[in-house]
Amino acid sequence: MDALVVKNLYKNYGEIVALDGINFTVRDGEIFGLIGPNGAGKTTTLRIISTLLSISSGEIKVFGKDVATESNEVRKIISYLPEDAGAYKNLTGRAYLDFIASFFADGEARREMVRYGMEVADLGDRIDSKVETYSKGMMRRLLIARAIMAKPKFAILDEVTSGLDVVNAFEIREIIQKIAKSGVSILLSSHNMFEVEYLCDRVALIDHGKVVLEGTPAGLKQRYGANNIEEVFTKAVSP
Ligand code: ATP
Repeated sequence: MDALVVKNLYKNYGEIVALDGINFTVRDGEIFGLIGPNGAGKTTTLRIISTLLSISSGEIKVFGKDVATESNEVRKIISYLPEDAGAYKNLTGRAYLDFIASFFADGEARREMVRYGMEVADLGDRIDSKVETYSKGMMRRLLIARAIMAKPKFAILDEVTSGLDVVNAFEIREIIQKIAKSGVSILLSSHNMFEVEYLCDRVALIDHGKVVLEGTPAGLKQRYGANNIEEVFTKAVSP
């Protein structure tokens, strides 16, 4: 079964047409990338799939569950990490993960979830430092751990490496690959074309609320006679 099917998705904010008939499919086990210029509709699409925003029209299924009519079922199998997510600054990293785990489980299951979260975050001794002392990179690792610790089937990551330095972004990409290998299907958005090419099995390019391209990075490069995805992007996006 496909991880995600988005069919004829429309979203208006009052007069503004943010999504103008979006279609794409994420297969089970894939890392799928959404790319597109500022304001193209990426975050709106991710928020709708995450059940946080209503659909104007269209249909979305996550592992066969309808986002509009079975939103509780969808919430049980997804995890969404917004670009601007934060954690409670007064808690230590470990206490924050335990706090989040307490919403999902008790006793041994809760301890196991925290253990797994700590493994994903891989913060060493700093897991016992207060979150307010974390660098941006450490914070992002903690938030990814939070998003993954309950072992969702489908993870939605908005701009997960934005604002990070080269080493931190590299390490976050490694974490994402590990998560995918553990069997989680992943939908991410990014403005970093190197990252998309490196991480994603397939990508969709959104422009003015429509998917204008969809395919593997290699296939898209070939189709456009381009050396990299940045070149594909520039050629495909209308001014
Ligand atoms: P970016 O790359 O800059 O994050 P994006 O591709 O994620 O952009 P969206 O944030 O989904 O784009 O925005 C799509 C369109 O919807 C834009 O025209 C934006 O101005 C509009 N929009 C988004 N949120 C709202 C809102 N709450 N109210 C009104 N318009 C909105």
